[in-house]
Amino acid sequence: MSTAVDTRPVHDEAEDEQILDAIRKWLERDVKPHVLELEHKDEYPQKMVEQMMELGLFGASISADYGGLGLSATTYAKIVTTISEVWMSLTGIFNSHLIMAAAVQRFGTEEQKRKWLPKFATGEIRGGLALTEPDCGTDLQAIRTRAVRQGDHYVINGTKTWISNGIKGSCYALLVKTDPEAQPRHKGMSMFLAPKGPGFRVSRKLEKLGYKGIDSAELIFEDYKVPAENLIGGVEGRGFHNAVGGLELGRINVAARGVGIANAALKESVAYSQIRKTMGKPICQHQAIQLKLGDMATRCEAARLLVEQAARAYDKGERCDMEAGMAKLFASEAAVENSMEAMRIHGGYGYSKEFNIERYYRDAPLMCIGEGTNEMQRIIIARQLVERNPV
Ligand SMILES: Cc1cc2nc3c(=O)[nH]c(=O)nc-3n(C[C@H](O)[C@H](O)[C@H](O)COP(=O)(O)OP(=O)(O)OC[C@H]3O[C@@H](n4cnc5c(N)ncnc54)[C@H](O)[C@@H]3O)c2cc1C
Repeated sequence: MSTAVDTRPVHDEAEDEQILDAIRKWLERDVKPHVLELEHKDEYPQKMVEQMMELGLFGASISADYGGLGLSATTYAKIVTTISEVWMSLTGIFNSHLIMAAAVQRFGTEEQKRKWLPKFATGEIRGGLALTEPDCGTDLQAIRTRAVRQGDHYVINGTKTWISNGIKGSCYALLVKTDPEAQPRHKGMSMFLAPKGPGFRVSRKLEKLGYKGIDSAELIFEDYKVPAENLIGGVEGRGFHNAVGGLELGRINVAARGVGIANAALKESVAYSQIRKTMGKPICQHQAIQLKLGDMATRCEAARLLVEQAARAYDKGERCDMEAGMAKLFASEAAVENSMEAMRIHGGYGYSKEFNIERYYRDAPLMCIGEGTNEMQRIIIARQLVERNPV
């Protein structure tokens, strides 16, 4: 039986600070010195992944009842922002994993929670979310990956693409069609926990503009057999609901990454503009640069406040698709604008691979695409505005 209980942890400011402090120290000591090298080699940060396991990050939002840290969305968003200020890619390694875990925690049966969540929380089993296919991303109801029941298991055929952690992960929350003829289409969709095994292969690693270090892959399922007990919630037809049910938190997370990139671009610009001199004075004394810094700082603050507002609403169990959509839209665009402005402020050095700025510029646009494109966020916000303000 499905137990869609949504236990939202309470936000504790003092506890937040302790966790953030440990993370900041780890970032300074073990991450910052290695980012440029790993980024440019596009190398998986294996050692950092092990350190993130020790820090408990793979169980950050998993309930303490199942071995996780049970952090609130508010605290989690702060962690994501803090890490993204140093290397946004790292957050993708535990974030898509935690969205898979959230699908089990929110919609799984008690047996599924007890079997999977403790191993997700330690990072012993890591993975992500497999929704997108080569010919559909936004229109998820158009997926074609098919699962057919045969006795006590399902046989799955299809292709998923752009799957974060697709190579290094070992298990995915896999969205499929169990009834391709169903109307409305979402009633024919189901979600499985799909561990790697016979019939499940990675066909290729996808090369990207940014978001280096983390593996994005195409996954192929050919007569892949999965036990019926891996059907999340134990009932067919709830897959679409399971997938979109995680989107509010997913959008808050992407927004938090956007704040991290926007902040990093600002901080480096404030520092650099005091050191770099032209016409006999630091460039921060030129009004043209001050106008940029003023706008950048304002975007950072506004984005941070929108993320906090959405996370607080989420923690209270309130409907927050509009708030999460606004946070995601604004913070991701802030990341894009701030990284471009940081590049202008840094002049030629902004374009150099020996500095961080060009990385922010390559990483930021992904925030506008993932977890629902910004075009879709505007539509969601507008629909909610009308729904909440009937005439
Ligand atoms: C680096 C990276 C990592 C990713 N990780 C994952 C992952 O782990 N798991 C996963 O499942 N997916 C993942 N994705 C896929 C991502 O979620 C999709 O790319 C995204 O949802 C957009 O889908 P699409 O690329 O198919 O674009 P499309 O859906 O084809 O959209 C194309 C354009 O049309 C617009 N559009 C579409 N429909 C409408 C509409 N109704 N109204 C107005 N405009 C519309 C879109 O906004 C966009 O501008 C990842 C993608 C990238 C690039």
